[in-house]
Amino acid sequence: MPHPATVSRFPGRHAEIGEGLPVCRLLPTQGLRLVGPWCFLDHAGPADYAAGQGLNVGPHPHIGLQTFTWMIEGEVLHKDSLGYEQLIRPGQVNLMTAGRGIVHAELSASPDAGRIHAAQLWIALPDAERQRPPAFHHYPELPRLTRDGFVLTLLAGSALGQTAPAEVYSPLVGLDLTAAGAAATTLPLQGDFEHGLVLLEGSVQVDGDPLPQDVLHYLPVGTAAITLRAGADGCRVLVVGGAPLHEDILVWWNFVARTTEEIVQASADWQAGRRFEPVPGVSLARLQAPDVAGLRLKGGR
Ligand code: MN
Repeated sequence: MPHPATVSRFPGRHAEIGEGLPVCRLLPTQGLRLVGPWCFLDHAGPADYAAGQGLNVGPHPHIGLQTFTWMIEGEVLHKDSLGYEQLIRPGQVNLMTAGRGIVHAELSASPDAGRIHAAQLWIALPDAERQRPPAFHHYPELPRLTRDGFVLTLLAGSALGQTAPAEVYSPLVGLDLTAAGAAATTLPLQGDFEHGLVLLEGSVQVDGDPLPQDVLHYLPVGTAAITLRAGADGCRVLVVGGAPLHEDILVWWNFVARTTEEIVQASADWQAGRRFEPVPGVSLARLQAPDVAGLRLKGGR
């Protein structure tokens, strides 16, 4: 699928994860599979759980990617097959490198979850790194600076002289820009990156055009800068970018691979209880892989 050559917009689609958390899926979407190596983007919530309710995503496997969680409101407990148990709070990032294979579960930390609001992303690992051993990192503090009434948090990569600690394997960037009220700023962009912007809260104009919530605003390689103008109610904008990944990746269920055979094998191994380790201390049922008969052939998606 060729990358768009001009500024373009791609509406997300609504979905649900963990039986009750509404998400808007912005990647992959009709017409756009990747922004740099970012291959999956869910805007999760904001959602308010009823008393006694919470997030319950049972153990499930990943291969060939990094999962990247940016927490905006609420708390989620991550548990994985390496034995990591980590609570993520607002303003923090969890980065799980699946490499050749990992299993994790995501749970509410207390019986009353309250509000959950997050961005859940995946980064496709480049071919040379995708068989690496699995790993997990929690980043409680991120580089933050103020600019023209915006607070910029650097989630991944480098921008404006700051570098985020996230351990990534391709040239990429992730930024959160938040304004409490009316504000305008021009953000320089790396010219050899493509970028995607998503409005997560409030209202914003991007280069003079209002950007609705849950629409991905795509900027092709060669874009030097972008001007954001927050409305009186302020805004929160997520920016992801990276060097275009010139690899033909296949995304299916929780797997990123290169061939149908790899996906079929990973799915069969998961269903048969092979290859993937259990997550200690989680009694929730394992998620079942969908029928691989539904898997489209490589390049078909
Ligand atoms: Mn997962």
